[in-house]
Amino acid sequence: MKSTIRTAEILCVGTELLLGEVVNTNAAYLSRALATLGISVYHQTVVGDNPDRLRAALAEAMGRADLVVMSGGLGPTYDDLTKETVASLLGRPLVMHEPTLAAIEKFFASREGGLAAMPPNNRKQALIPEGAVVFDNPNGTAPGLAVETDGGAVVLLPGPPRELEPMTDRSLVPFLEGRVESVLVSHNLHILGMGESAVESILLPLMQSAQNPSVAPYAGDGEVRLRVTAKAPTRAEAEALCGPVMEEIRKSPVGKFIYGVDVGRVEIALVAFLAEHNLTLATAESCTGGLIAKRITDVAGASRVFVGGGVTYTNEMKMALLGVPEATIAHHTEVSAETAAAMARGARERFGTDVALSTTGFAGPGGGTERDPVGTVYVGISTAAGEDVVRLSLSPLRSRDFIRTAASSRAMSEVLRVLRTSR
Ligand code: ATP
Repeated sequence: MKSTIRTAEILCVGTELLLGEVVNTNAAYLSRALATLGISVYHQTVVGDNPDRLRAALAEAMGRADLVVMSGGLGPTYDDLTKETVASLLGRPLVMHEPTLAAIEKFFASREGGLAAMPPNNRKQALIPEGAVVFDNPNGTAPGLAVETDGGAVVLLPGPPRELEPMTDRSLVPFLEGRVESVLVSHNLHILGMGESAVESILLPLMQSAQNPSVAPYAGDGEVRLRVTAKAPTRAEAEALCGPVMEEIRKSPVGKFIYGVDVGRVEIALVAFLAEHNLTLATAESCTGGLIAKRITDVAGASRVFVGGGVTYTNEMKMALLGVPEATIAHHTEVSAETAAAMARGARERFGTDVALSTTGFAGPGGGTERDPVGTVYVGISTAAGEDVVRLSLSPLRSRDFIRTAASSRAMSEVLRVLRTSR
């Protein structure tokens, strides 16, 4: 029976961390991952590439905690000595792990068309303390290692974050999951179009009564995130606790403002939705100046859904490139629901897409009218069913940058809302 893991320490190895040349993001990443497993992290330590100090730090950490997670110093060079130090402290000989050696050889063969021969030094990376569990490393050569100890385990992970982070999620967390008293599962519901206080006033009874899962709001960048967190002995049980509460939130008046769950950013949710429904999109931007097109094309795979867009800042360009009728602008002005609708319609027709999105508004600090003060942005959405326009009233006290970013987020979430309700 493997021992239960309640406490952990993080021990990062690397002189460059002590010199301040590299920020210790691994410690933060590991602390967050361990917290989700209900494991208390009481110390984070950094030591340089020095075997004596490393040995002393590891012995001390093992004396205090059930689990020690180390990062760095697994490389092939002479100053990478984490593994040797751990093996010697635990009294385990280093043995060759053939599957790892084969994986490292394959890694080199796949690089530069197989022209980069494996340097002999890299053989060293396939040595493991006898009996260690091996975590494979698809993003590099040094595998991760977990060595059982009397009271818990010592885990060694590679230093580069692009190797350590996926290995933490894919291998370390599952390795620990069966050995902890409880698991924390969190889901984030992303909301645009409703402010934090409105969300809170609707969900206050739920937020106050819900203990497990707990429901907490977070606001930032013009959006609100609701985090639903449950604690249970296993991941499946924690998920089962989250499910009904998330459903209750979806059914509340907040529900229609949720643009995605655990998606990170609205542009990711939009691209995924369009791809899933085989829809194409074009943009016609005035006050957001191409920001929406930029954010959409930041998403890998956007080319499957995004055709193109225009930054039509002047009235002349709105007319020439999008075919907005001169009379529309003359009667309603360029910042109006009618102009937004005509811009979206024109973009959809000229780009030949299923959907088009337009923005026109006052980002400030100067400008604006009595009817439409700074912070007013009209969002036009054109589909085969016709045009929808949403008038956003963003705070005139916020910066130009904020208004443009918030308008671009809201515009994308409005497209999602229109498409979801029409389906
Ligand atoms: P490799 O197999 O690439 O040699 P390694 O396990 O030997 O990896 P190190 O040589 O210690 O790792 O570190 C490699 C690089 O990873 C460092 O130069 C640094 O950029 C990054 N790195 C190391 N430790 C950390 C850390 N704690 N936080 C963030 N980045 C780190």
